[in-house]
Amino acid sequence: MSLRIGHGFDIHPLAEGRRLVLAGVEVPCEVGCAGHSDADVVLHALADAILGALGAGDIGEWFPDTDTAWKDADSAVLLGKVLDVAAEKGAHLVNIDVTIYLERPKLAVLKDRMRARLADLTDLDAGSVGLKARTFEGFGPVGAGRAAAATAVVLVEIPHREKD
Ligand code: MG
Repeated sequence: MSLRIGHGFDIHPLAEGRRLVLAGVEVPCEVGCAGHSDADVVLHALADAILGALGAGDIGEWFPDTDTAWKDADSAVLLGKVLDVAAEKGAHLVNIDVTIYLERPKLAVLKDRMRARLADLTDLDAGSVGLKARTFEGFGPVGAGRAAAATAVVLVEIPHREKD
């Protein structure tokens, strides 16, 4: 087996009339992320991190926003399909580490639920799931409350193979 690291980033604008879904958990908020799917920046960053570790492209290639199948889609389904890609390669996740960047609301009371949801979605122990939330200290579009962003890092174990 060998270890591969992957990194992902996502940002979406916040807009009125949208649900705010982060790490598969609905966050009570007067604005939500605008996007083609449910615009869950955490699951999108995580899916990209996994694809990155596998050298398998990015979610824009796998789930184009021109595809109506993904309109308002649950990003947990999208992540599930990426995990299927990993499983087909004989890969499994070792740990994940996610940071959410959001000016408001504070996510402290929801972090345990988000972490449990990520553990459930990825089939990892909670101890193998890192989740942090922070603000942008007022700077830029995130700091102005106009966007939510997330970064994700994942370690993946894959079987040794000839170069493909
Ligand atoms: Mg996205």
